[in-house]
Amino acid sequence: MSDHKVLAGARVVLPTGIIENGRVIVDGARIAGSAPEDAPVLDLTGHWLVPGFVDMHNHGGGGASFTSGTVEDVLKGVHTHRLHGTTTVVASFVTGEMDFLTARAGLLSELAEQGEIAGLHFEGPFISPCRKGAHDETLLRDPHPAEVLKLIDAARGQAKMVTLATELPGGLDSVRLLAEHGVIAAIGHTDASYEQTVEAIDAGATVATHLYNAMPGLGHRAPGPIAALLEDERITVELINDGTHLHPAALELAFHHAGPERVALITDAMDAAGFGDGRYMLGPLEVEVKDSVARLVEGGSIAGSTLTLDRAFKRAATVDGLPVESVVQAISANPARLLGVYDRVGSLEPGKDADMVVLDAAFDVKGVMRKGEWIVAPQGVPTRVPQNA
Ligand SMILES: [Zn+2]
Repeated sequence: MSDHKVLAGARVVLPTGIIENGRVIVDGARIAGSAPEDAPVLDLTGHWLVPGFVDMHNHGGGGASFTSGTVEDVLKGVHTHRLHGTTTVVASFVTGEMDFLTARAGLLSELAEQGEIAGLHFEGPFISPCRKGAHDETLLRDPHPAEVLKLIDAARGQAKMVTLATELPGGLDSVRLLAEHGVIAAIGHTDASYEQTVEAIDAGATVATHLYNAMPGLGHRAPGPIAALLEDERITVELINDGTHLHPAALELAFHHAGPERVALITDAMDAAGFGDGRYMLGPLEVEVKDSVARLVEGGSIAGSTLTLDRAFKRAATVDGLPVESVVQAISANPARLLGVYDRVGSLEPGKDADMVVLDAAFDVKGVMRKGEWIVAPQGVPTRVPQNA
């Protein structure tokens, strides 16, 4: 018996553009090039069919923290984001003690080996006390290459990204070390000048951690990191499109200047994503979530988001008015490329994992498929099984 399914009738977003009334064929866990005649057909007329979302910066969800939760908690957080269309997620850690972070890296590297998460991101501790955001200042340290190496070694090949303030002592050497090890050096939580940022990019940094947030603003005499990061072709800028972290004009400026091929939409989500208002812990710091905005109890800094990527998508396509192809690039293809997994995910092409999201005309999630299995099965969508099946 064949294990084919045909998803037909949707507006399908491919790397080459939008196909009206398109067909995507699934064979087991993969996208296939053709199907036997008796394969069941799911009629998705009136819907969009887009690649599963790829979130390269995410601290948790569903009430669970990637930094501190048990393995079960982490899986619960991963599942919460899958329900919102994120079929590939990197687990991000906030600043902690070095011993704590190396132990967490060891534990979660197993989940990465099993394919549940797409690797690990250390957002601290090598960040600037001047731009610490919701990180515990007492645990911050300069990015000594030997310590950076200790963290990535603990992740047993699953470290994907380290965010660092590259202007700190040891910063540029650490960037070089990360680049040599194939780990993304991300500039963020930084107080660097324009010139210092250019140096870090020349040393091998390739990502801007949540551009605009936790870095000096754009000034006309001191353009700071934002100008350097936006103008350089080698940099992809992360954006948190929740309507709180960024003014729509700041998002538009980044998309316009960097172009859709150099933007990655991320959530920077914390435990409350997909869960609700209340009190939470972000690493060792207490956070109050009110009206879906997370702030530190002490000081009131924005503390991650409660965003899920389906909301970021919808906002980008509606409020921000971006072309759907550009949104798909920024939410699936670009992060997949950066993470080195574009051969398996990030676009709807034969041979890749059957990871996709069904959206209605208003860009609300109606279905989520991961590796050929429905995580969210589309309701009220007619299935047609050919007579001779
Ligand atoms: Zn973060």
